[in-house]
Parts: sequence; structure tokens; C-alpha cells
Amino acid sequence: MSTDCLFCKIARGEIPAPFLYEDEQVVAFRDIEPQAPQHILIIPRQHIRTTLDLSSVDNALVGHIYQVASQLARQLGFAEDGFRIVNNCNESGGQVVWHLHFHLLAGRQMGWPPG
Ligand code: 5GP
Ligand code: ZN
Repeated sequence: MSTDCLFCKIARGEIPAPFLYEDEQVVAFRDIEPQAPQHILIIPRQHIRTTLDLSSVDNALVGHIYQVASQLARQLGFAEDGFRIVNNCNESGGQVVWHLHFHLLAGRQMGWPPG
């Protein structure tokens, strides 16, 4: 836990963000500045700064996040159309919030290569 981390505060319910999914390990909520018709963030409750801070003990957590993403995609009705899961790591990767998060994007055709 980090007291001044934005996503820790969201996970603890101190900053309002209606959860689309929550359990003891992760929470999912809509991005405040959506880049697609569906833009959801899935984060661990645990404060992990970046992908580089993951270790083998977190393997199940990351797998779980992908399961939650698939579950949300089915529930929200865009699983068959398709979606994109993005994790930005460090400056050049485009990371601006220093708490591990996975973007779940859908509802439009995604471009490739990504920007
Ligand atoms: P990053 O660039 O670090 O991968 O993504 C951070 C994301 O967090 C951005 O898409 C940004 O719009 C989102 N974000 C930043 N502050 C807030 C907030 O207070 N609430 C929500 N729901 N999303 C936020
Ligand atoms: Zn945090």
C-alpha cells in the first residue's frame, strides 16, 4: 500500500470510481479519459509500481487479471468483436500512473502499430 498513490486510493475507495469488478486481489473501473468507447483499467489492490516490479510470486495475479479482462469482455458484450489489453511500462512505454494497471480497450477498430 502506498498512501499517496492515486490507484491505491481508488482501490481503497477513497477516490470514487464505480467498480465494474472487484475481488480480494483486483479492482476494475472505467478510465477517466477514455481512448475508446470501452476503456477499463484493471489493477491489483497491492501497490506494484511497474511491470518490472513483478516477480514470480505474482504470476497467478497477472493470470487472474487476464481472466478478469476476458470475463469483463464477455459481460460487456465485446468479447467476440475483439479488444486490446495494454500495459504501459516506464516513460517511453507511456506510463503516467505508477501503480501497475492493464488497459482493456474495445468498441472501435484498433490501429497497428500502436502510437
Ligand atoms: P498510463 O498512461 O499510466 O498507462 O495510464 C494511466 C491511465 O489512468 C490514463 O489512461 C488516465 O486517463 C487514467 N487516469 C488517471 N487518473 C485517473 C483517475 O483519477 N481516475 C480514473 N478512473 N482514471 C484515471
Ligand atoms: Zn498504488
